[in-house]
Amino acid sequence: MEKEIRKQPRRSMWIAAMGVVMLLLAAAAAMLVLNRYTLSIRLRGDAEITVEYGESYVDPGAELYLADAFFWKEGIRPRDGAVNTYSNVRQNKLGKYTVIYSAEYRGMRAEGSRTVRIVDTQPPQIILTPDPEGTLLPGTPYEEAGFQAVDNYDGDITHRVKRIEEYGKIIYSVTDSSGNPCYAERIVPYYDPVPPEIILEGGAQISITAGTVFEDPGYAALDNVDGDLTQQVAVTGEVDWLTPGTYVLTYQVSDGFQNKTSVTRTVEVIAKEQQQTVTPEGKVIYLTFDDGPGPYTEQLLDILDDYGVKATFFVTDSGYDDVMKQIVEQGHSIGIHTVSHNYREIYSSPEAYFEDLYRMQEIIYENTGVMTTLMRFPGGSSNTISSKTYEGLMTILTKAVQDAGFQYFDWNVDSNDAGGAKKPEQILENVKQGVMQCRVSVVLQHDIHAYSVEAVEDIIIWGLNNGYSFQALTSTSPAVHHNVYN
Ligand code: ZN
Repeated sequence: MEKEIRKQPRRSMWIAAMGVVMLLLAAAAAMLVLNRYTLSIRLRGDAEITVEYGESYVDPGAELYLADAFFWKEGIRPRDGAVNTYSNVRQNKLGKYTVIYSAEYRGMRAEGSRTVRIVDTQPPQIILTPDPEGTLLPGTPYEEAGFQAVDNYDGDITHRVKRIEEYGKIIYSVTDSSGNPCYAERIVPYYDPVPPEIILEGGAQISITAGTVFEDPGYAALDNVDGDLTQQVAVTGEVDWLTPGTYVLTYQVSDGFQNKTSVTRTVEVIAKEQQQTVTPEGKVIYLTFDDGPGPYTEQLLDILDDYGVKATFFVTDSGYDDVMKQIVEQGHSIGIHTVSHNYREIYSSPEAYFEDLYRMQEIIYENTGVMTTLMRFPGGSSNTISSKTYEGLMTILTKAVQDAGFQYFDWNVDSNDAGGAKKPEQILENVKQGVMQCRVSVVLQHDIHAYSVEAVEDIIIWGLNNGYSFQALTSTSPAVHHNVYN
């Protein structure tokens, strides 16, 4: 009995526990069965749609789906179900809208939504009223011909247009309420019938002496609208300052309205008239001394003076300025040799040669008051050393210096005092030999050599005893010219 009693509660506890489990299982099963179906709304198209203002919005709609947890997990479209659409989209107003989709089906509910934006990305337009026929003279204020700004959404926004007036140009700008900008530009119809003016300094006709490097005296270009156009002037044409002739330079410029101006300048390169050569009577010796004055020149002047003989000195810028003056004062001829006697420098170009030539002429003038046109090329016109620095230079220079009014003298008797003859007796002999072959002799000596100066007295005595007269070169003296090899 006691056993029975003790057994009873144990069994009932077990049954009770089982019952609880069963109940829970049943509840779970019931839950599963009750929630077996799910209802949902699927949108056709995107969940967010942007529509340009002015284009029509047609809602793509949505579909109702029923899914079974056991069988059709992907869901089916129940034929007897319908989706209700609620839309507040206003196509004529920019903004963000929501379309709500909802459905009820056999006691179940489903909902979905979509965002629709109505936007304006189209910029406004600025319409400019054309300017009336005719044009404005520069300086006249421009009168606005009118403009209008229209936007597809904002409508007339003319009052919002910003207008900036710069010279000759007006810029209009406006932005619509969506921030889309627009610009327009108007060229003010200025009228400029007046071409620029070119002023030639020194005039339209210029003449220069051959051998004078031509430098444009300058010019200016002025325009009634654009102002100073000097920098834009194009100059064409060239002046060959070495060759006598007529040269034309053209100066051209245009203003901003394409008015062109072209003027010309005529440059006449004039050759100086050559002196007529006069052949002296009888037998004549022209003693010439190059490269001085130097330390022996005064001694030489004394010798010449003793015999009343006149000679010619082709001088350099040697620093013996007083002696240079003395040469002239004692009645001798003075001629240009060179400033530097540097072949590489003076024969580097016609410009360089003429620069040296004129400088030496100026130095002589400053020291003696004589503006001499007599000259002798360093190395003579037959020199070939100049071909190392400038091909054909002597051919150019021998003609150019004469066109420039100079008389150049070479020599037909060489004492050879710059070469092998280092003794007065030898120099005398060389001069005698040379002179005897010519009726008119131009003798080359250098008064920077003592031995050459020492030979002079004997040369004079010999010459006088043999019926020669000694003369100084002048611009009409017979020009002894060498052959030109460069
Ligand atoms: Zn010399």
